[in-house]
Order: sequence, then structure tokens, then C-alpha cells
Amino acid sequence: MTHPPSSVSIIGAGISGLAAAAVLARAGVRTTVHERHTEVGGRARTWAQDGFHFDMGPSFYWMPDVFERFFGRFGHTSARYYELRRLDPSYAVVFGPNDQWRMPAGRTAVKRLFEQEEPGAAKRLDGFLDEAAMKYRIGMQHMVYKPSLSWAEYMEPGVLKGLLRTSVLSSLRRHVRRNFRSARIRGVMEFPVLFLGAMPQHTPALYSLMNHADIDLGTWYPMGGMGRVMQGMRQLAEEQGARLRLGDPVRRVVVEHGRAVGVETASGVHHADAVLATADYHHVEQQLLEAPCRTYSQAFWEKRTMAPSTLLFYIGLDTRLPGAQHHMLFFDEDLDAHGKDIYTHRRWPRKPLFYVSCTSVTDPSTAPTGGENLVVLVPIASGSEDTDALREACFTTIADRIQRHLGMDIRAHLKVKRSYCVRDLEEDHHAFRGNAYGLASTLAQTGPFRPAIKSRKVKGLYFAGQLSVPGPGLPPALISGQVAADLIIKELHRR
Ligand SMILES: Cc1cc2nc3c(=O)[nH]c(=O)nc-3n(C[C@H](O)[C@H](O)[C@H](O)COP(=O)(O)OP(=O)(O)OC[C@H]3O[C@@H](n4cnc5c(N)ncnc54)[C@H](O)[C@@H]3O)c2cc1C
Repeated sequence: MTHPPSSVSIIGAGISGLAAAAVLARAGVRTTVHERHTEVGGRARTWAQDGFHFDMGPSFYWMPDVFERFFGRFGHTSARYYELRRLDPSYAVVFGPNDQWRMPAGRTAVKRLFEQEEPGAAKRLDGFLDEAAMKYRIGMQHMVYKPSLSWAEYMEPGVLKGLLRTSVLSSLRRHVRRNFRSARIRGVMEFPVLFLGAMPQHTPALYSLMNHADIDLGTWYPMGGMGRVMQGMRQLAEEQGARLRLGDPVRRVVVEHGRAVGVETASGVHHADAVLATADYHHVEQQLLEAPCRTYSQAFWEKRTMAPSTLLFYIGLDTRLPGAQHHMLFFDEDLDAHGKDIYTHRRWPRKPLFYVSCTSVTDPSTAPTGGENLVVLVPIASGSEDTDALREACFTTIADRIQRHLGMDIRAHLKVKRSYCVRDLEEDHHAFRGNAYGLASTLAQTGPFRPAIKSRKVKGLYFAGQLSVPGPGLPPALISGQVAADLIIKELHRR
């Protein structure tokens, strides 16, 4: 007797939803993705105006191996969908007036830079990065591609032994400070974990694996912008047979007798054997499910450490910005003071650190001829008050600092200017407290301590994305979608 194929409804067409759709469809599962927006990408969507093409969210393409492993499942490489370039310098760091580092690509060149700054640092960097590479290898081979439903999954011989040979439980900050004295080197070595949404003193040293990602694996750019990655993933999912329903927000996960049996949208109820929610976890549990079906209460969420929200400006200039680099980190103010403002006082940073992406340096297609494409990002506390006046005050600070360091007043050259902040993240992504990167990767929010990939209350209901395991960022969310899809396939087979 033949059985009809199983079916899965996916909520959300961000990177995790698209990854899961491709994997499920390839396994012969009838897969439908319901996305509230009329385009794919979620936080990695794009926006265009007057010839400027902006990536609305992510701009750092890190861990290219994770993307290749994904495309490799389908017998492809990323090159089938987009053209990658390794950036050199990887990024620039502005420490102060006339004090800027251009971080060269690759370990050898970075060692040279560090050695000039602090004699002996090159050798210590080698040791630091060898250990970071081992953590990365262990993480990729034995940890992050697992559903993380219990710690027992990690209890493989060699894994704990390998990890315990490294500094895992100490903080990233302590680990960096034990190795390097220079404030500049420390700043550069602490920067990558800011992607994980917590301060270096609150991030386990396990995450020095991010330094391996930064220095050894490199910063890449998909020509045309990050949106190309999302388009490629959409194409792949559709090639595998997944169906995308864009502009089709889910209103309710339909639960019957304790089992998820589909989703309800404006067009009616769509029945399925399982539901995978990749929209923000809090939104799905609190708004799409009845109270008895929720694994986590509102009180649980209130107690979480959310990664920051962001204030973003999408800026088109009518001229080139002298000295601009593709990625520029303005670390000319105190990181700890900024961190205290957003994590402890929960107020707008008074002297913010910020980041500017200028894709037109590498890719002229993102701005009209002679113009420049800038995206400015300021980390702010999740749940911050968000008013036009606060946004504008911050813009003035940033424009002044850019003028001080790069010598040009961008205010005199604005062709396009759009701001995006907490209110927009809440409206566009149903983001709890307007978070940009989900839950912070603290020790208490790692692995099985994170919101689970599988509902404990509703059978056949699964979760993926940056609020679940393994964590925030494009590569982890890409992994998350695959892990959830693999688990669903296994459990559907069992049924
Ligand atoms: C400003 C910013 C900068 C970033 N920078 C980087 C970076 O440089 N590098 C990096 O690797 N990562 C970066 N990130 C993080 C990265 O973008 C995210 O971790 C990743 O995109 C999350 O993917 P996801 O699939 O978990 O969720 P999302 O991309 O949020 O996708 C969820 C989808 O669900 C949809 N949805 C929500 N509710 C419903 C509903 N009821 N019905 C139907 N659909 C719904 C949403 O519209 C969305 O499309 C950045 C994020 C932001 C916001």
C-alpha cells in the first residue's frame, strides 16, 4: 500500500524557513511556506529607492562553510545562486581621530598587524586561534547540528574531553585579556561576539570560535547584496517543490486533540501533518496559540536576556564618501559604557558605538553612479522607547562623528534617508521587545537552555530560527531550519 506524502506548513520565509522548506520538499514532504510579507528574507529583506539597493538587516557574510554545507545537501554550491567575494580588508575599525585599523584578510596578515602593536601578540594569536578553530570544529561536528533537546546529545566521547582542554566556561573577555594587553587588539578580538547579542564579559569563552570565523574563515560578500542569498534559497526551495504563499500571514496554529493539524490564514485553514514555526518564537506562542498550548509563559519571556534592538539608517548619498570601507566599526567611544546603557540602564546609549556598511565600495550596483550606499546600525536596548526625535538626535551624533573621522558632512549629500527601529521590528517581524538578533547567547541561554525546537505541549509543532537553537545570526538560523526539518522528517517517518 502506498501512502500519500506527508505535509508540513511553515510559518515564515526568513533564512530558517527557506532552509527548512528546501530540506522538507527534497524529502518528498508537501511543503507550504506562509509568509506575511510579499517578499522572502525576513530580517534579511531588501529595500530599494532611487537606484539605491539596501540590505535591510545582515551585512556580514561569515562562516561560508555553513552555507556550502547547506547547498551541498542538494548537490550544489553557493556559486549556482550568487557570486561570493572575500573582502580585504575584512573591515575597518575606527578607534579615534586619525586612528583606524584596516583588518587585513587572513591570519598571517593579522599576526603581522598585532605584532607591530604588541610584541609577542602574533604568537599568542596563533595559540588563541588554534584553540578557537578546535572549538569551531567540535561545535560544527558534534553540537550545533543537533536538536538540543537534552544535554545528553552532547555526551559523545571526545567532545567534552576536547572542550575541557579549552577555556569554555570562563568569559570571552577574560580569555581575551589573558592573551592580549593592547586595548586595540582587545577591542578587535571582542568585536565578533557582539553579533551574539551579549557583552564579552557575559559571553562564554566557548564563543571565541567566532574569532576563528572572523580571522581564519573571513568576511565575504555576495555580489548584488545579501538579498541574493535569500533569492537563491527561495529558488532552491521552489526547485525542490516547496510552495511559497507570500503575503499570507498566519493568524492561528490549528490544534486538535493536542496535535498541530495546520495553520489558519485569511484564505482559510491549511491542513498539514506538522507545523514548523520560524516566525519569532514569542509571537507564535503568545499570539498564534491558545494559552494551554504554550510551552513558555509571558513571565518566562520577560526574564530572558534579549539581544539588542537596533536603530538603522538606510542612506543614499549623491557623492562618494572619501576613505569609506565596505564595513566600518566606529569604536571611538567606550564599549562598556554603551553596554551599560543598553543592558543595565536600558536607555539609549549616550555615546554610541555604531557600524556603517558601505556596499558600494565593493559593488557599484548598489548605488547610482557617483553615489554611495550607507547602512548605519546602532545597537540599542530591546524594548527601548522609540520616537522620531530620539532617532534624529542619534542621527546628528552619528553624522558628526562620521564628519570628524572621514571629513565629510553626509547631511549635505542625502538623496535617500530612511530610519528603522524598535517600532518597525515589532510591526514587521512581530519581534518581542523589537529585538534584532533574538535571544542573547549567554551561558544560561545556550543549547537546551534555549526555547526548544519542539513544542512540549503540542504534538507535531516545531520551531526554528534565531530565538531557538543554536542561536542568532544567518549561519545559526540556516542550521536551525535544517535541524528542525530533519527532526520533522524523522518523526513523520516514525508516525
Ligand atoms: C539589523 C540586523 C543586522 C544583522 N546583521 C547580521 C549580520 O551582519 N550577519 C549575520 O549573520 N546575521 C545578522 N543579523 C541576524 C540575522 O539577520 C538573523 O539572525 C536571521 O536573519 C534570522 O532568521 P530567521 O529565519 O530566524 O527569522 P526572520 O528572518 O525574522 O524570519 C521570520 C519570518 O517570519 C515572518 N512572520 C512573522 N510572523 C508571521 C506570521 N504570523 N505569519 C507569517 N509569517 C510571519 C516574518 O515576516 C519573517 O519573514 C542581523 C539582524 C538584523 C535585524
